[in-house]
Amino acid sequence: MKLTPGEQKIQGNFLPGVITRDGFLGSDSRHIHDIVLEDARTLERMGLSPGDIADRLQFFLDEGKKGLESPVSSGAFTVQVEWHKGALPCPFGESGLHQKIMARLCSKRTGQCIRFSQLNIHLIRKHGFFEGKGSPLRLDPQELAVFLKG
Ligand SMILES: [Zn+2]
Repeated sequence: MKLTPGEQKIQGNFLPGVITRDGFLGSDSRHIHDIVLEDARTLERMGLSPGDIADRLQFFLDEGKKGLESPVSSGAFTVQVEWHKGALPCPFGESGLHQKIMARLCSKRTGQCIRFSQLNIHLIRKHGFFEGKGSPLRLDPQELAVFLKG
């Protein structure tokens, strides 16, 4: 498929070293639209929408903020946030910046933890984008949905 110059610029935003050190695609060579489509189908099979997942993650990020940078207990989970200086634009190219806040969310039951950023929540909510396979901040929708059940 031939991309327009505008699309090429947007595609470039996902590569390592443009917006984030690691980029957003990992080792995934699929087109971004195909990544989004497959993850949307996975979620649909589970009866969930990207908005449902984004709401859950935002809830825990906000819980974590209450502890400043100390761990906070929230139901079946513990969450700890880290604030970094600065803000990031969205790789999809619309205007606006996202604070660099990372959250580490751990299940009390299994001890399993996941990491996600404020930008991840935006990418999921607005674009249905969970990042490419192999990306350090990729959140597999199926694993994530199971994890968030507690
Ligand atoms: Zn965006």
